[in-house]
Amino acid sequence: MKIIDRLREDKIHISFEIFPPKTEAGIEKVMTAADEIAGLGPDFISVTYGAGGGTSRNTARIAEHIKKELGVESLAHLTCASSTKAEVREVIRNLKELGIENILALRGDIPQDIQFPSEDRFRYAYELVEEIRNSGDFCIGAACYPEGHVENEHKEDDIKYLRQKVESGVDFLTTQMFFDNDIHYNFLYRIREAGITVPVLPGIMPITSARQMKRSCELSGTVFPRRFQAILDRFGDYPDAMLQAGIAYATDQIIDLLANGVKNIHIYSMNNPGVAGAIMGNIAEIIKC
Ligand code: FAD
Repeated sequence: MKIIDRLREDKIHISFEIFPPKTEAGIEKVMTAADEIAGLGPDFISVTYGAGGGTSRNTARIAEHIKKELGVESLAHLTCASSTKAEVREVIRNLKELGIENILALRGDIPQDIQFPSEDRFRYAYELVEEIRNSGDFCIGAACYPEGHVENEHKEDDIKYLRQKVESGVDFLTTQMFFDNDIHYNFLYRIREAGITVPVLPGIMPITSARQMKRSCELSGTVFPRRFQAILDRFGDYPDAMLQAGIAYATDQIIDLLANGVKNIHIYSMNNPGVAGAIMGNIAEIIKC
């Protein structure tokens, strides 16, 4: 089923995310995590894409497993900067053959060791969106950034390029993580003003360790509100306390979003069924309303 058809239903939708293992040895562990997360009954599970080699092959493999063996819709991420156009076309062909109907089209990070941009690579995600649109009957998602993408100095440019990307054939957007819901509400207002009307899935990252927080912050430039920083400062050195506080904070963000009319939530579950299950337990009654 196409994710966009599901998102059009007038009900709450919850999705989770899995990332493939770096080496073949880790595949079984990730498949087990996928099995457990699928057991929580999400509307779909997305599978991230790593640059090149086994990681990228495993995205298709895990997405196929989730859809065909676990009976949950899957969303395969696909990045283009680290591959040639020919390689990207091959991945799209493979996804089509496997019966994957949903792709999250991304540029990805630009590898240091190549000439970029170049004729034989897609430069921006919108070019990948066009390619996927012309390659088959896919539902296409794309990324957006409530706090602005790190490469852009001006937020207006971000929205201008986001609109171009959506007009290239995007069905829905998923946001980068954020920890202050007001930033999301403000972003939604600005993109709706700019004429971007597709569904936007807020991406909620449960931060359950101080190390994870540091890494996430460095990669994305995400702002940590004072309230969240206080939690990290107080509980960061106590793993069990941080786990509990991180789940509570993410739950609180989700409840606030749902209370304010948001219908679709994407949870960056990071291959952690325990965290995913705890959050689902916390909102079990809420999502029935
Ligand atoms: P784009 O939309 O191409 O944007 C990249 C930059 O170029 C932005 O600054 C944008 O404003 C600018 N831009 C866009 N169009 C133009 C234009 N026409 N002219 C000038 N500038 C332009 N990474 C992975 O490696 N694997 C994953 O699985 C993955 N999943 C992700 C999922 C989500 C929900 C999110 C939010 C991010 C994910 N990422 C992933 C990270 C993503 O690949 C990086 O953030 C990357 O730097 C940008 O990708 P993009 O698709 O947003 O790029």
